[in-house]
Amino acid sequence: MTKILIAEDNAVNRELLRELLEVRGYTVVEACDGEEALRMIEQTQPDLLLLDIGMPVLDGFAVVRKIRENPRLASLPVVAVTAYAMQGDREKILNSQFDGYLSKPVNARALAEELERLLGKREDRSAPPNQSHESQTSGKTEAAGSGK
Ligand code: MN
Repeated sequence: MTKILIAEDNAVNRELLRELLEVRGYTVVEACDGEEALRMIEQTQPDLLLLDIGMPVLDGFAVVRKIRENPRLASLPVVAVTAYAMQGDREKILNSQFDGYLSKPVNARALAEELERLLGKREDRSAPPNQSHESQTSGKTEAAGSGK
């Protein structure tokens, strides 16, 4: 069972992400601020972290820095989730130890592609791939050697 930690201070956004993940069979755990996110990583050992940038206590940049500084956590895949859609912010994020980037509102297909790319396997699901709805994937980073 693949476990995803959602670190996001907005309850509506957390619920949206939870629904997108649970429908694909992922187990979801949640944190409401950066400090809780670090605690939940230790406690629940997720396979991947979806990390909001704008959060109280510790923001996403501070959280990912602490993750990379900790040998036990350093290899955790971390995807930034942010409404900061401007090009400068995207570059800053991709240069800040994140493994991927999703812009809000999160597109279901873009989310699925990031998870498949970073988790290195496909989830079993009956829904056929639908690659025509990618209008919000401008922040997508192509995986090296993904065969695409
Ligand atoms: Mn936020």
